[in-house]
Amino acid sequence: MPLLVNLRHLETEDQDLDLRGELPVTELDLGCSDDLVVPAKPLLYRLTVQLLEDSLLVQGSLRLPLQCQCARCLKPFEYPLEFPRWTLLLPLEGEEKVAVDNDCIDLTPHVREDILLELPQHPLCGKDCRGLPQPVQGEAVKTSLPGQASSAWAALDKLNIEHLN
Ligand SMILES: [Zn+2]
Repeated sequence: MPLLVNLRHLETEDQDLDLRGELPVTELDLGCSDDLVVPAKPLLYRLTVQLLEDSLLVQGSLRLPLQCQCARCLKPFEYPLEFPRWTLLLPLEGEEKVAVDNDCIDLTPHVREDILLELPQHPLCGKDCRGLPQPVQGEAVKTSLPGQASSAWAALDKLNIEHLN
């Protein structure tokens, strides 16, 4: 189930709507191509939806547990992406108005958009992670550069291959 708000309910009940639940990772569909950051569990949401004159106000919290891999040392670690005060204002009138399908508004794309913006680009297990042990001292400087992870993988692959032979 996507994260839907039924406008008809809001209009007839004449009160704020509480939405609580989990949004499966497949539904969230972040399209992560990056192995370093993978959504591990469903997104937890706790939202209040309020019908204003010509817009919909959504407020609440979102939490998405991510399974990350340190870009420096390759150590796996969990990182919860949290939005403790998430707010979304959706216009119901005018040019920018939100799409309504069968009296329902799908909040999923809006949630997805904000999560994509906040996904860690360069996950680190800790602020002072020193990365993989480097044989040459000068090499250590390079660990903070993007692309390090892939070269580390390449090194690991090479090791595996050597083992197989
Ligand atoms: Zn690390």
